[in-house]
Amino acid sequence: MTLPNSEQEPAKSWQSQLRAIQDIPSLYSAGRLDLDNQEAAQQAHELFSTRVPQDFLNRIKLGDKNDPLLLQVLPQAQELIKHADFTPDPVGDQASIKAEGVLHKYHGRVLLITTGACAIHCRYCFRRHFPYNESHIGGKRLDAAIDYIRDDPSISEVILSGGDPLTLSNENLHRITDRLNVIKHIKRLRIHTRIPVVLPDRVNSAFIDWISSIRQQVSIVIHANHANELDKKVQSTLESLHQTGAVLLNQSVLLKDVNDSTDTLIALSHRLFECRVLPYYLHQLDRTEGTVHFNVNDDTAIELISHLRNTLPGYLVPKLVRENTGQQSKTPL
Ligand SMILES: *Cc1c(COP(=O)(O)O)cnc(C)c1O
Ligand code: SF4
Repeated sequence: MTLPNSEQEPAKSWQSQLRAIQDIPSLYSAGRLDLDNQEAAQQAHELFSTRVPQDFLNRIKLGDKNDPLLLQVLPQAQELIKHADFTPDPVGDQASIKAEGVLHKYHGRVLLITTGACAIHCRYCFRRHFPYNESHIGGKRLDAAIDYIRDDPSISEVILSGGDPLTLSNENLHRITDRLNVIKHIKRLRIHTRIPVVLPDRVNSAFIDWISSIRQQVSIVIHANHANELDKKVQSTLESLHQTGAVLLNQSVLLKDVNDSTDTLIALSHRLFECRVLPYYLHQLDRTEGTVHFNVNDDTAIELISHLRNTLPGYLVPKLVRENTGQQSKTPL
């Protein structure tokens, strides 16, 4: 749903859109929500701050506290619930840091934490406790990351992740990929980003030029959990990314009350394909402190995915996986 007046407003730069809604009162008022029970929500906000771009909010149903997009960004009292199985670093990222900002867990591919910043703060995020400030490849640390990659010829793919790499300026993105371009054994460059979905204005022509400057084959893994996230503007953004020749994939997280129904997941797959994106992973929630209320149990997850398999062509069925510490890959369920 479009907010009144949004069409009359002058276009804002994507940088200013990054500083959209960042406090609970603004979020409640933008979503036309009753100002109830804010104390607990405020505590949740203090543990992991609120951040939502206006474009994403434009797609929620105003006044509906159960809107599947709103639930992904609204700080809630349930985040304060403690559970022994839900810990600050459930996937063992700390143990796989090989140089500052370099995660090398799986054969042949390394993941670079390019920044700690995101355009949106997803309440279920497994990196909500990640100590980004100490571990990303900003500034001089890029040299060490490049050395690590250059010295290991078994690495054929570099994944730009974060945070969200698209919060970086195009200049900073060039700084990274210009260095990767000259490393012969890197054949593929992958970009993990939620920004084409949550802040499509970021994908401007200078950004498209950056993609075209990359020597490797490019894949872009976006992150959408619900078909409502993929409105017309997002669709045309994804189409322009597709035209660069990049392969577009999607990862979702299975989230209670957001997308834990077959109808919702089927609609998402259909909508992704309309936007030229193939479903890649459906992640079982990483058991991160503060996210218990999003958890869907494995039996339900397996049932959902087998229903999808019986309904959709194989290429529209995402792989249902969980990340287990110490495994050689994500683990299929
Ligand atoms: C998920 C992940 C990858 C990518 O795994 P794929 O199965 O290739 O998508 C790479 N590195 C790390 C640290 C990851 O968590
Ligand atoms: S965009 Fe990705 S990394 Fe950032 S908060 Fe959301 S899920 Fe986490």
